[in-house]
Amino acid sequence: MTRRLVVLGSCGARPEAGRASSGFLVEYDGARIVLDLGYGTLPRLLTHVPDAALEAVIITHEHADHCVDLHALYRVLRFGPARPRVPLFASPGVLQRVGALEVDGDLRDVFDVREFPGSVGPFRLSSVQLPHWVPNSGVRFASAGGVFAYTGDAGPSPEAALLGEGADLFIVEATLQGGDQSPYLRNARQAGELATAAGARRLMLTHFWPDSDRSVSALEAAETFAGEILVASEDLVVTLE
Ligand SMILES: [Zn+2]
Repeated sequence: MTRRLVVLGSCGARPEAGRASSGFLVEYDGARIVLDLGYGTLPRLLTHVPDAALEAVIITHEHADHCVDLHALYRVLRFGPARPRVPLFASPGVLQRVGALEVDGDLRDVFDVREFPGSVGPFRLSSVQLPHWVPNSGVRFASAGGVFAYTGDAGPSPEAALLGEGADLFIVEATLQGGDQSPYLRNARQAGELATAAGARRLMLTHFWPDSDRSVSALEAAETFAGEILVASEDLVVTLE
């Protein structure tokens, strides 16, 4: 059975040429789950899942670079063949902002809004609130095969290591480089520190500032994490346990 993660978008803040903002597709034993839908991710999702048949959609927070293409998915589902509503894990802020784009419809027409913790396909989903300018839900996927986790956008906090504890793959936002720091974002060294604290096997860096040199981020993360480091890039496919 296919067990993989596909990167739909890897840019923070705004997309750059040929890339998209944050988004991932999880394909696991027949279940397809989308994790964030930032600018430009929906056409990429449809190249992998043309009928948009999804087990669930998860949006970490209401910033547009993580949620704006949820509206595009809404239209695909609304104007496509009738089907059961798709479970959607998203904050009230996401529902309000994305829902406001539609004049005569409601996201609940096509989405079944859920709250963490939850169960989707083979996964037990849990969430940890991590520091950002708006409520941000880090997400942990646990199955019989193993664990992977995603921070969304988040500054340093002790809870983040629990989110990724023992993960086979820990996807960590690493917007900043060098000595740049923020209470609400991480630099690549801090992403490495987090993966080390969590005891993760593999670290995927993502949410790169547009036009930044990503190889610098990988080198900086390697200063603080001895395991395998992956650099998110559009259409990168990573095998899951
Ligand atoms: Zn954000």
